[in-house]
Amino acid sequence: MKTACLISTGTELLLGTTNDSNSTYIAERLFNRGIRVVGKVVVGDNHNTIKKAFENALDLADIVVSSGGLGPTRDDLTKEVACEVMGCDMLINMVEVQRLKDYFARRQRSMPESNLKQALFPPEAEIIYNSLGTAPGMYLKKDNKVLVLLPGPPREMEPMFKQEIEPRLERDFPQAVNRVIRRTIKILGPGESQLEKMLDSVMDAYPELAMALLAVDGEIHIKLTVEGQDINHSQELMEKVSQSIKESVGRHIVGYDDDSLVSVVARCLVETEKKLAVAESCTGGLLAKMITDLPGSSEYFWGSVTSYSNEAKMLYLDVKRETLEKHGAVSPEVAREMAQGMQKKSGAELALSITGIAGPNSDAKEKPVGLVYICLAAGDLLQVKEMHFVGNRESIRILAAKTALDLLRRHLINGGR
Ligand code: ATP
Repeated sequence: MKTACLISTGTELLLGTTNDSNSTYIAERLFNRGIRVVGKVVVGDNHNTIKKAFENALDLADIVVSSGGLGPTRDDLTKEVACEVMGCDMLINMVEVQRLKDYFARRQRSMPESNLKQALFPPEAEIIYNSLGTAPGMYLKKDNKVLVLLPGPPREMEPMFKQEIEPRLERDFPQAVNRVIRRTIKILGPGESQLEKMLDSVMDAYPELAMALLAVDGEIHIKLTVEGQDINHSQELMEKVSQSIKESVGRHIVGYDDDSLVSVVARCLVETEKKLAVAESCTGGLLAKMITDLPGSSEYFWGSVTSYSNEAKMLYLDVKRETLEKHGAVSPEVAREMAQGMQKKSGAELALSITGIAGPNSDAKEKPVGLVYICLAAGDLLQVKEMHFVGNRESIRILAAKTALDLLRRHLINGGR
């Protein structure tokens, strides 16, 4: 298996002001081609450090991909240092000089002298055209090593990698292509260790499969990876494993890959032609935001009432004063009346309500931070859930909104299970 090392250059990446997203992007794309990333490093704009990084990377791996430091300024050193390490001279490339001149002419600006260094390349290198900026990249195959240099801005680097570098890697390493299949299965409900236990038998049955559990905003994502020479066999294995997981934890599965809780619920609402309205207290409109973040939500979403105060709950949702006084705003009784009130006011068949204590303080002793009541009114059915979330204000609100959506998802897909 071919190996790669990644180098990200730029002092700003070391100061914590810019996140090194380039290496994550490149690592994922290489992994999908069956090229194993064996190391990555972030270095500042310093000649010696960059030189050491390239020497080490070329020592360790067959392919070295670097991003950043291809600009016209004095601190942009990547290309000259990398070529020095590879033992290549750089010559001025007249085609690139003309391209730079045209770039500036189109913007009615004269080209600064310093930009000329962007047209310096080793004659044996393939120059990678950058349609979105001035810094071209380069692809160089020498002494059984491949060196790839790309500019730093992700909006320039990403299309260049995808459109120009990947076809060259495919050309030079055809056996490495398409050997990895990945799938993400998104789960909401069981905790991480509980889920792991439920999946034990699947993991035992398929030792050739890599499975990782990742906690993401209250959900757990099962990341499945199958590697192998025979793509058909890998695909077959992925289907078998997905089926086994479905059999073990099916009702907790929110969706696959690009699915989200909202998109899955939205699909069900469109299919069943049902309308939804929501009444929110402690989430302050977050649930409505999540629903309307998806384009086209007006087809199934009536709207929401953010009834934060008791007055709003009474005025807009017909929650009874006695209920509030007797049980408090955070109670199953109020959650029920909020959902029923919302259903009645909107005329929507489905209504969700959320009332709880997001923290950091609770005004009622017997009601701790994280206590949230969620109610689903579906036709004549009323279903209330009492939740005890742990986390800060933001995460409790996210968990509350997601649990409400999941309650609806389970009602629509699994008949409430
Ligand atoms: P250009 O001349 O087009 O700017 P360059 O190769 O000189 O290209 P840099 O100056 O190194 O690019 O970086 C430009 C900007 O790109 C940085 O300020 C930063 O915002 C972004 N950038 C650089 N490297 C990375 C990285 N590894 N991940 C994410 N963003 C990056």
